[in-house]
Amino acid sequence: MTPLMHPALINEPFGDPGVFVDFLHEKRAMLFDIGDVANLPSRKILRLTHAFVSHTHMDHFCGFDRLVKTMLGRPKQLKITGPEGFIGKVENKLGGYTWNLFDESAADFSIVACEYHADGMLHAAQFRFQNAFERQDLTEQQVTDGVIVDETAYSVRAVHLDHRIPCLAFAVEEKQHLNVWRNRVTDMGLGIGPWLQELKQAMRQGARDDTQITAKWRSNGILQEATQSLGDLRQLVKVSPGQKIAYVTDIGFTPDNIEKVILLAADADYLFIETPFLHADAEIAARKMHLTAHQAGMIARRANVRRFEQFHFSSRYEGQADRLYQEASLAAQQDEH
Ligand SMILES: [Zn+2]
Ligand SMILES: [Zn+2]
Repeated sequence: MTPLMHPALINEPFGDPGVFVDFLHEKRAMLFDIGDVANLPSRKILRLTHAFVSHTHMDHFCGFDRLVKTMLGRPKQLKITGPEGFIGKVENKLGGYTWNLFDESAADFSIVACEYHADGMLHAAQFRFQNAFERQDLTEQQVTDGVIVDETAYSVRAVHLDHRIPCLAFAVEEKQHLNVWRNRVTDMGLGIGPWLQELKQAMRQGARDDTQITAKWRSNGILQEATQSLGDLRQLVKVSPGQKIAYVTDIGFTPDNIEKVILLAADADYLFIETPFLHADAEIAARKMHLTAHQAGMIARRANVRRFEQFHFSSRYEGQADRLYQEASLAAQQDEH
């Protein structure tokens, strides 16, 4: 199966945290944490539809200005979600600049900032460039099962964790992975074309078998057309479970945190997890409410993830990254005693 979501750390492991998830065939991307984003080229920033912020310690939020600066003047909306108090932080950031330089005809870039509260409420406010980024509160919403983004093809779930302050971890999940069997399309006397996206869309939306779908394609430059029922066309598409990517950072190794992270990341294709400290320094890690490499590896194993990637290394181990990698892999392989 060709994966649709392509995640990658935006910095080396001693740099600021952040994972960029690109979506194949779609002009969109998601960003988890907005620390130093100097390594992200503008073309990637312009693909962003969503950004998620675990908490607003500087190394997770200082790249916000660059995102805004890159997107200004574009007819785009960026949805950005963080923990309790987040909307005020966004408001303060935007309030730090003077916004009189737009003209009425400029494209209206807007930010929708959301904060996810422990009581399950998602508060939201909009900040429009044309409105000098003045805060406009939107209606709040009750979130079910932590699902803070729910689209036809994808969902993003968040959980509240303890970093001595509230901190969010996230998992983005493709609901179903739909792959077209191209040979079957031609076997049926049809051709490849954008209509296959419509077919997939209809299947994702749970359309009925008698739904009529018109296939349009070009053969030797001539437009061909055929209408068939969804029931007959289903055999052209292979349905498999979607990908799942989890992002976890800045949490203490507490029973409550561990339990929530294991549930969130269960069976993920990728788990991006912080490993700032070696287990020899577990005491410092506990004081700072961070994980050790050993603890992170153990969580990865217990969540049964397919692979995990480490980041957010403490500068005290500069030149010793291998030790952090080895410690976590070892813990991920060990049986529990
Ligand atoms: Zn932090
Ligand atoms: Zn941090």
